Amino acid sequence: MTHAAQAAQAVLAIHGGAGAMARAEASDEARKAYETALAEILTNAGRILEQGGSALDAVTEAVRLLEECPLFNAGHGAVLTSAGTHELDAAIMDGRDLKSGAVAGLKTVRNPVLAARAVMEHSQHVMFVADGAEAFAQAQGLERVAPEFFSTPLRREQLERVQRAESGQTALDHDAGASGGVPLSFPADGQKDAPLDEDRKLGTVGAVALDAHGNLAAATSTGGMTNKQPGRVGDSPIIGAGCYANNRTCAVSTTGTGEMFIRMVVAHDISARMEYAGASLEEAAHTVVHEKLLQIDGRGGLVAVDAQGNVAMPFNTEGMYRGFIRAGHAPVVAIYA
Ligand code: ASP
Repeated sequence: MTHAAQAAQAVLAIHGGAGAMARAEASDEARKAYETALAEILTNAGRILEQGGSALDAVTEAVRLLEECPLFNAGHGAVLTSAGTHELDAAIMDGRDLKSGAVAGLKTVRNPVLAARAVMEHSQHVMFVADGAEAFAQAQGLERVAPEFFSTPLRREQLERVQRAESGQTALDHDAGASGGVPLSFPADGQKDAPLDEDRKLGTVGAVALDAHGNLAAATSTGGMTNKQPGRVGDSPIIGAGCYANNRTCAVSTTGTGEMFIRMVVAHDISARMEYAGASLEEAAHTVVHEKLLQIDGRGGLVAVDAQGNVAMPFNTEGMYRGFIRAGHAPVVAIYA
């Protein structure tokens, strides 16, 4: 295959969470703001692939830019715990050799995805949490900020709204005991595509890429779920659940009710279906999102790319902020089905 033909396959896909604004309530202005942000991030990070850079660098930069954007639930703009604090999680994986890095419970590291990458590249380990992760990031010279840097007025309002609503609702929720009052499952009464606004706690950002050299990579970063219990960790930083990349199959980054994504080992399950059962990316991703996850009321979606450059972006919520860019082409972005 010629270099030009290979380069044409290079592709980057991103998501900004499956907790999209309810379609009926989304103003044109709000929609435009999200679409513009997604397109700009795709264009900027996509340039890395266009210039022959690595999938790993492209997903790192895409997620860093998503973390910097206050619209999305990661880095600046992250949601708050029930204690009104931030605890940030991230993971990254290199499909060439399955090297991975992850962090959970960060409080002051400006870009959690850079900390995850540093764990992958500069430690013998895969995952650091809480104080140890902070210390590792500091030793790596990563930028740290005061925790308030991550807060936005919108996230504070969301926490207040959710806490007000849940104080009247907790007794009705069968998941409340296990989750500290955060309902993790959503009504199953036929509302397969029910609106999931961000107050209902979904967010997270992620990126997957195939580069011109045929390498895959994935990265995911999140503030978690609004009103989560301090110390709770979702799927985003768990390799194989919220993030996975393997050159033999695909790269996957997820968003949704993290507990269910961990239980279904979602990202690795998609890769395994391709590797062991010969499923296509589209089939594997569709089965996991629209069949497996729904069996346990798992709600959300994912972006994935395979070694041939096919892209899948399924979700079982009303919307998911998402988009992709192929080297040399304009970005394509969408929110609803
Ligand atoms: N999956 C993330 C978590 O459980 C949240 C999300 O994607 O909205 O922490």
